[in-house]
Amino acid sequence: MGRSSKDKRDIYYRLAKEEGWRARSAYKLLQLNDDFNLFNGVNRVVDLCAAPGSWSQVLSRKLIEERPNSKDMVKIVAVDLQAMAPLPGVIQIQGDITKISTAHQIIGHFEGEVADLVICDGAPDVTGLHDIDEYIQAQLLLAALNITTHVLKRGGTFVAKIFRGKDVDLLYAQLKVFFLSVTICKPRSSRNSSIESFVVCQNYSPPSGYMPSMLNPLLSNPSQFKSLEGANRVIIPFMACGDLSAYDSDQTYPLAAEQKQYKSLLPTQEPINPPYKTACLLKKNNSLASSENSGKKCNMSHSTNST
Ligand code: SAM
Repeated sequence: MGRSSKDKRDIYYRLAKEEGWRARSAYKLLQLNDDFNLFNGVNRVVDLCAAPGSWSQVLSRKLIEERPNSKDMVKIVAVDLQAMAPLPGVIQIQGDITKISTAHQIIGHFEGEVADLVICDGAPDVTGLHDIDEYIQAQLLLAALNITTHVLKRGGTFVAKIFRGKDVDLLYAQLKVFFLSVTICKPRSSRNSSIESFVVCQNYSPPSGYMPSMLNPLLSNPSQFKSLEGANRVIIPFMACGDLSAYDSDQTYPLAAEQKQYKSLLPTQEPINPPYKTACLLKKNNSLASSENSGKKCNMSHSTNST
């Protein structure tokens, strides 16, 4: 979370900084928890696609800080492609959740034990091409589900971000194969303008004889879904999470009365290796091409074939 003019407008973005969360996403998990009691009796959790780490922060606070007596029983494993600054009690893995090697690393950390909860807030870098974004998001969810079938205990819970696009029924049907209850939720802090929602899948109960396998990704043949009819096509309940007392994420709010003038807050956790790092360095050294001479600089770099 860097500084931007959005800071002034987005209430959850601002609150996250004030309350020390690394990202506004923290409120999505907190609001899901308000409705589903996700952390009740939970000690072992996998947080997939965890960077910059606000969901892991929620886990660390709820499972460790607020329950110091059960601290030794808690295991939180967080995974992301990106490096993440450390958090108390959180084991970190840097890797791609669609890769078998990452799945093995996660499973390895559980040493034969199983997780009570798997959460996944995974999102691709959106391209703006909806079909492609939805497809990649669905692949991430399936990768997360595949890992989940290796580590989740029977009766456990899986929570994941989902894009409610036109082929989403296919994913719902697949999730219903593994969980007795599947609910789609839209937390108040998730922008109305965003296609994202969250599936809360409860009571893990794989079909008898199901053998988890990383070599055979789930649902690799979407055409199979078209043949499903009647009761085999599933209607999933939809739920708006959080009551009207929560802030509306798409509304603009005035500053609190005591804050006469807007004061920008620093990010809770600076990104470790952001994609814009090189540009910042260039700017610091005054080496960025200005709009007037960018064409000139660009031509120069072409002609000299140097950076
Ligand atoms: N839940 C996080 C939090 O609260 O701070 C925010 C997650 S962010 C919306 C989505 C994350 O998904 C990004 O950090 C991105 O690196 C990660 N991601 C996307 N594809 C991934 C993949 N194939 N494997 C692991 N992480 C992935």
